[in-house]
Amino acid sequence: MINSHILSQPFELIEPHTIEEAMKWMANYGGKAKFMAGGTDLLVRMKMGKVFPEVIINLTKIPALRYLIIEHGLRIGVLTTFRQIEKNELIQKQYTALYEAARAVTSTQIKIMGTLGGNLCHGSPAADSAPPLIAFGAVVKAFKGDQERNIPLENFFTGPRQTVLKQEDLMAEIQVPEPKARTGSAFVKLGRVSADLAKVSVAVVIEREQDVCKDCKIVMGSVAAIPYRAKVAEAILKGKKFTEGLVEKACLQASEEIKPITDLRSTAGYRKEVSKILVRDTIGLAWKRAG
Ligand SMILES: Cc1cc2nc3c(=O)[nH]c(=O)nc-3n(C[C@H](O)[C@H](O)[C@H](O)COP(=O)(O)OP(=O)(O)OC[C@H]3O[C@@H](n4cnc5c(N)ncnc54)[C@H](O)[C@@H]3O)c2cc1C
Repeated sequence: MINSHILSQPFELIEPHTIEEAMKWMANYGGKAKFMAGGTDLLVRMKMGKVFPEVIINLTKIPALRYLIIEHGLRIGVLTTFRQIEKNELIQKQYTALYEAARAVTSTQIKIMGTLGGNLCHGSPAADSAPPLIAFGAVVKAFKGDQERNIPLENFFTGPRQTVLKQEDLMAEIQVPEPKARTGSAFVKLGRVSADLAKVSVAVVIEREQDVCKDCKIVMGSVAAIPYRAKVAEAILKGKKFTEGLVEKACLQASEEIKPITDLRSTAGYRKEVSKILVRDTIGLAWKRAG
């Protein structure tokens, strides 16, 4: 019987200390094994009887995956936790939308255990780190055996709980370019209660030149099968004088573009309606910060 409090299935636990060792174990066990970081998604899915790995390869003993370097952009080792992001003053200042996403994660326990790599690899359309990272133009570095590839995060998600990574691929790093001068960002999340996954979330990054919106990215969570970039709405603002009327147009367009579903957190109709307000508020915040 399914009981989300009990981990009843047997599994072998392997704890490598290097990336090479982790990849070797994964190659040995193939489809029977799964990587684990904080375990806050994986263990819940095991307890609920949704996945049955015979082997868990715990990544948390690999120091080469745990770092946060801020130097002409961000280099985030995948084991970096939401708590580390939230506590970093430079991220708070320069990558405000990412800081706000980490702050919006439900509880201190999850912030301490949950990693950015796990959040992205789980592939949820509600993943809080995805909209700001996509809006900032993040690229992820992944390994398949000894081959390395760089994937723009915008092309990473392929469906609910699906990404371009295969079972044996390891995500190692998230790279985020340095924002240009006069850039502001914001992340706003609406849940049923404050400690909940998003009904809808919005991240906006705006580059401003006096009263003109030079560039703009609008990325939304929980409104489609994957984190969704509202490109038509962005085009309404890009290169134009920033006015209330234009923002209103962009919000309506964003709400038109998205394809939300009805699930236990919200209805598709509510998600569409509330998106108009959330997108407007998030654009307003990012614009103000860019100034
Ligand atoms: C009570 C509760 C509240 C939550 N609240 C939020 C919330 O507010 N916002 C939010 O976004 N999420 C939330 N989550 C979901 C979860 O905590 C996050 O997605 C978290 O970031 C997952 O990270 P992790 O390190 O625990 O991942 P894990 O559970 O260890 O892994 C998740 C998946 O990614 C794979 N994986 C992990 N690391 C790698 C890697 N380096 N390379 C390849 N594959 C990898 C694993 O095999 C697994 O399939 C919540 C979960 C719980 C249980």
